[in-house]
Amino acid sequence: ITPRPSVLHAFREAVRDAPDHPAIAYFDGRVTYRELDELSDGLAGHLAGRGFAPGDRLAIMLQNTPHFVIALLGAWKAGAAVVPVNPMYKGGELTHILTDAEVTALVCARTGWEAYIRETAADTPVRIALTADAYDFQTRNDERVLRDERIPVPEDTDDLLAVARAGARPPAVHEPAPGDIALISYTSGTSGTPKGAINTHVNVSYNADRQHLLHELPPGSAIFALAPLFHITGMVCELGASLAGAGTLALAYRFETGVVLDAFAEHRPAYTVGPSTAFMALMAHPQATRDHFASFRIISSGGAPLPPALVERFEAVLGPYLHNGYGLTECTAPCASVPPGVRAPVDPVSGTLAVGVPGADTVVRIAGDDGKDLPFGEPGEIVVSGPMVVPGYWRRPDATEAGMPGGELRTGDIGFMDEDGWLYVVDRKKDMINASGFKVWPREVEDVLYTHPAVREAAVVGKPHPYRGETVKAYVSLRPGAEVTPDELAAYCADRLAAYKYPREVEILPDLPKTTSGKILRRELRG
Ligand code: ATP
Repeated sequence: ITPRPSVLHAFREAVRDAPDHPAIAYFDGRVTYRELDELSDGLAGHLAGRGFAPGDRLAIMLQNTPHFVIALLGAWKAGAAVVPVNPMYKGGELTHILTDAEVTALVCARTGWEAYIRETAADTPVRIALTADAYDFQTRNDERVLRDERIPVPEDTDDLLAVARAGARPPAVHEPAPGDIALISYTSGTSGTPKGAINTHVNVSYNADRQHLLHELPPGSAIFALAPLFHITGMVCELGASLAGAGTLALAYRFETGVVLDAFAEHRPAYTVGPSTAFMALMAHPQATRDHFASFRIISSGGAPLPPALVERFEAVLGPYLHNGYGLTECTAPCASVPPGVRAPVDPVSGTLAVGVPGADTVVRIAGDDGKDLPFGEPGEIVVSGPMVVPGYWRRPDATEAGMPGGELRTGDIGFMDEDGWLYVVDRKKDMINASGFKVWPREVEDVLYTHPAVREAAVVGKPHPYRGETVKAYVSLRPGAEVTPDELAAYCADRLAAYKYPREVEILPDLPKTTSGKILRRELRG
């Protein structure tokens, strides 16, 4: 496909062709394309008036509210590189990102401002602060997610919506070039200090357009943002794709199962994508029915492993078939997906569900330790090149050279390809467990645990062991009302896996630790 140079170009087409169509639906509030254009112009004008220049960095630290979209488009119109930041970040982790990216403008929630000032402000280059009130745009407050008191605009900040409405027009609307920086997306830092992956405008536009074409969504469809917009999946596959198709982006502040189900009923989305844990949580909700899912044309699970047992259970209980998709921040979200109407195969040996097939312009190869291609079926490192691969990391030539030598992205994931071109992800290279010299991939053990009817979530990690080096330990949470003992679960796995693979220890927890984007955090369980 030939992508448009930027999502801003796509947005302008939508404003021209469908000015009165809702661009955003947020509880009972709606923002049309025309309004979104005016508000983002107003913000761009405000930024320019305060000396913010093209190429400067603006951080958005918000949950899924309409302000996120206004801030993103306004910043792009002002020529900014946007740094999406998890609103849960505090202290050192936040200071690192804001200083590393030299962020001079920050948009954050009013409720987060005090903590920012207390813990961080003195150490960061931020000089323009705009705060957003999550209660804007809607009249029907939902206390399940919006529990805070409305608070006035804090000192030292301006109200984002007020400055956007003041309508100062930008002196010159910036036209992003395809290679300009659209986003600096910080990795969660499991492998050292967080690094900023540089997603160019064409990286973002390519994957936003591709989502739309791949899923054959009718123009104007509603897309529900199940993933957080500050994460690359929400940003590109939901926000970007919605603007690219002149659609309606349905937002519900943050992931709360009851609220999400109500939003499905109200906004009738055609598409959503989220981590597999979100689908497990929705399935566990007592009020979830097939009706809630009837409007979907396609649902994708991406960004985290998808156990085949979940796909079966979800389809049997709620109707939709979950389409797997594989990607990472450095690929600006997906680089392989399961086309609509197609069911991904399950590898008969490992029981792993295929993540998809690479996109048309994408080359995925499996490399051995020497960097050379491995034959079909043989596991090695997944290496990706294509129009969605980032050119590098922000001011980290060392990390760029190591992570994407010659422009090819070394993903750090182990996988294999079958003869029909399906890609399978075995696991992350760094999560491999070495038990007495035997390689154990946690995913394979987790997939078996998920076939047990009592198991809601499972995470398998290596624990240090005096003789074996490492031993396999499983943590699980149970489905509502289910009863099972750790020994029964260990025995269940022992019946289905080689002796060195089954978990020697099983611990049942009420819930497993997750990132705010919904991925299970094995590293916290490893301790
Ligand atoms: P960090 O890179 O700092 O550890 P992260 O894990 O949050 O942070 P992301 O870019 O969000 O980084 O996640 C990408 C990773 O998620 C991939 O490298 C892969 O390990 C995993 N992943 C994504 N999609 C799938 C999938 N369909 N099946 C299995 N694993 C997946």
